[in-house]
Amino acid sequence: MFSLSQVRHRYGRTIALELPHFEGAQGEQYLVLGPSGSGKTTLLHVMAGLVRPTEGTVVIAGQDLADLRDAALDRFRGRHIGIVFQRSHLLPTLTVEENLLMAQYLAGLDQVPARAQEVLRRLDVADTASAYPSELSTGEQQRVGIARAVMNRPRVLLADEPTSSLDDERAEQVIDLLTTQARDDGATLVITTHDKRVQSHMPHQRTLTLEDA
Ligand code: ADP
Ligand code: MG
Repeated sequence: MFSLSQVRHRYGRTIALELPHFEGAQGEQYLVLGPSGSGKTTLLHVMAGLVRPTEGTVVIAGQDLADLRDAALDRFRGRHIGIVFQRSHLLPTLTVEENLLMAQYLAGLDQVPARAQEVLRRLDVADTASAYPSELSTGEQQRVGIARAVMNRPRVLLADEPTSSLDDERAEQVIDLLTTQARDDGATLVITTHDKRVQSHMPHQRTLTLEDA
């Protein structure tokens, strides 16, 4: 479903990521562990096609990302890859519902308000639909961020350190939300973390451990 081989990424002379092989099957869930600076964010950016690796091959849902030019890559990402960033990436001038519809628009899909409402309901934040991001609590912002990521029923859901700023109870809830959302849509889930708690909340998942570069 996804397959990375001989991937290496450099920022100048820094080798940010060096990964001989990482692959995963549709619908499976993966945990990427590693200390700060080990390349977790770089890996997710490479898998999302936000960063083109210096070397190596990245195939997502049968598509070699190197074969897509920038506009096509943006559309492919919007259509098939959901990303939960470390910080909220909601557009501040749009309401929650408009942010979700924007995800459909950017992927070249029809805008379907009923889908936005369904996803918000699933994440228990239906009452935020007409609010602006700045009016949301941190927890609501995170749920809406997940809602936007799953809006287009992605094949792959990527979450970058989703629990790093949360207390134990909320960390467990967020992992539960991500695993449930991914399972409901049959998405492959990849979560990065340096947080040992996440491993105990996802004890049966396959893990990849990145070493500090
Ligand atoms: P992690 O998410 O595990 O903390 P990162 O992927 O952010 O790791 O970073 C891996 C390495 O690449 C680190 O040494 C970091 O300093 C470096 N790095 C990351 N992003 C950039 C960038 N935009 N420019 C230069 N160096 C970067
Ligand atoms: Mg990071």
